[in-house]
Amino acid sequence: MKTFLGMPSTAPRGVGHLRGAEPFPAAARKALADPQLRRNLKHATTTIREKSGKVIAELPDWQQLRDAGSAVKADTMARLPELLEELEAAVTAAGGIVHWAADANEANAIVTELVRATGQDRVIKVKSMATQEIGLNEALEAAGIEPVETDLAELIVQLGHDEPSHILVPAIHRNRSEIREIFLREMPGVDPALTDDPPVLAAAARRYLRETFLSTKVAVSGANFAVAETGTLAVVESEGNGRMCLTLPETLITVMGIEKVVPTWRDLEVFLQLLPRASTGERMNPYTSMWTGVTPGDGPQAFHLVLLDNGRTAVLADEIGRQALHCIRCSACLNVCPVYERTGGHAYGSVYPGPIGAVLSPQLTGVEDNASLPYASTLCGACFDACPVKIDIPSILVHLRNQHVEAQRRPTPESIAMAAAAYTMDRPRLYAAAQRATRLSRLAGRRGRGLPPPLNGWTASRDLPEPPKRTFREWWARR
Ligand code: SF4
Repeated sequence: MKTFLGMPSTAPRGVGHLRGAEPFPAAARKALADPQLRRNLKHATTTIREKSGKVIAELPDWQQLRDAGSAVKADTMARLPELLEELEAAVTAAGGIVHWAADANEANAIVTELVRATGQDRVIKVKSMATQEIGLNEALEAAGIEPVETDLAELIVQLGHDEPSHILVPAIHRNRSEIREIFLREMPGVDPALTDDPPVLAAAARRYLRETFLSTKVAVSGANFAVAETGTLAVVESEGNGRMCLTLPETLITVMGIEKVVPTWRDLEVFLQLLPRASTGERMNPYTSMWTGVTPGDGPQAFHLVLLDNGRTAVLADEIGRQALHCIRCSACLNVCPVYERTGGHAYGSVYPGPIGAVLSPQLTGVEDNASLPYASTLCGACFDACPVKIDIPSILVHLRNQHVEAQRRPTPESIAMAAAAYTMDRPRLYAAAQRATRLSRLAGRRGRGLPPPLNGWTASRDLPEPPKRTFREWWARR
């Protein structure tokens, strides 16, 4: 059987991490000390949030659309094996070739071999989270193949030898004068009189990319959606550079996470309304490119679809965690998250940053390989409210924290405290005695005072609540 579904697998450990990643608390501390980064992030996330809020408010049926998106995703996950085989049959019938990759190494090997078979040593790339997740650029470079990012923000990140920090706006941590410096330093043939005026910077990138588009014969893309009933792939973007990659080269290789399939065209319609308003704050995507296999005389004449598992079947096997696979990568949860707005994406140390990264990355790699991420949240719930497909991110975060605690072999101060609380709450007399003791400690526990060591870490950044004058039991007994 070609599919690997029904057999939970996890990604090879380490896949999906950013270079030199530290655990979140250490990385966040460094990010918080960078005022320029915080200014860049605040400006960018506030602008996107406001734009998105305005166009969402125009739709009276936004909540129903969210419900529909959530229902389609739940249905898709419930019958993923059957839909993927339907997609494979439709793509093959339309002249495409489907490959199944169980993990990042397999996917990278497949793509590398496909490029080698064309005799080319350079590929142009459409912005793709899946290829970042598997480290495709690094794998291609190791094989002597040059990958050129064509999305403007991805190009800035690539030329700056940097890492992306946002799903939709990978160079969100850079301002225009930093971008000008990167272009002057790294972009071949750039005008030395380049200014930091955004249209001037965009024109410089356009000149550089146009030459590359016209001289490169192989493209690699991701996919936002794939329609099982017809085998149609869809990529949405704002610049048109993706359209160039999808139409000009002779060979197109698409790497797609298996969760991106949707059953029918009617289902796709729901997501094409949700995605642009939630992500870029646009009423529709400026460029929506769709293709079905190969069309003689029009566009790439060889099309390969690589279906990527890389830990997704393990996520699917978890009834709470599998909601993370509903994600349509709009990045709305990043833009509303108070933690993301202050630390930026690099602090998460993961290709998927922000709230979705905090629930997806630990599941793809195994929770213990990304154990600090489920704690990178205040559980305020803003991500849940903003998510266009209603993913309950706070509940998944709590679920993953529980998995992490359960995985600890040695008792931690928290597990000892929780075990003591459970023992006490299970015994009414002991519980009443503990309550009396708590009231006696009212004086010590006055607001503003901290707990003594070793519990002082808990009160280092928060006030200890003052115990009430009367317990609930006493109040109940009196009435
Ligand atoms: S979790 Fe929801 S809000 Fe966040 S990127 Fe995915 S679809 Fe968008």
